[in-house]
Amino acid sequence: MARIIKNTRTEAQHDWPDTVYIQGGERGVVLGGPDGAYQTAFFEAFPGGTFLRGEGRILAEAEEMCWRQYQVWVNCDGATPAHGPYERRQYTNGAGFCTRCGIWASKVFEPIPDDPNRKPRLIERVFVDRDPEAIEEVLTAVADAADLPHAPSGD
Ligand SMILES: [Zn+2]
Repeated sequence: MARIIKNTRTEAQHDWPDTVYIQGGERGVVLGGPDGAYQTAFFEAFPGGTFLRGEGRILAEAEEMCWRQYQVWVNCDGATPAHGPYERRQYTNGAGFCTRCGIWASKVFEPIPDDPNRKPRLIERVFVDRDPEAIEEVLTAVADAADLPHAPSGD
């Protein structure tokens, strides 16, 4: 029997293993994209140690993008251990990317202490600094969600 995607009433199109938590939404809002906020359908999967996310105009498209990432992750070179070596790229919190399949993974490095001159991200300005301008930016984007541009199509 097909699984229902958590937080939706939609059945998953793909045969996700029972051990992989899946959730999604028809209307997500993404803040701080390169061209500002946008709305998107999204599908997220949580196989052990990583987080995969697809976006698209509709939920089915988002699931398709996420499923393609899952296939890459699950088929990583067939070696033991399955993933690694890793590289940090922009992450300093201990996360990194598998150099073979390219998928993001948490807790694969020791975290690097924060650079005190680093520019805080929007989410930190809201929840850590309680910066009124950041809070207004978030609330405005959410209130206007229906008018935001859509994410580019998954293909
Ligand atoms: Zn890998």
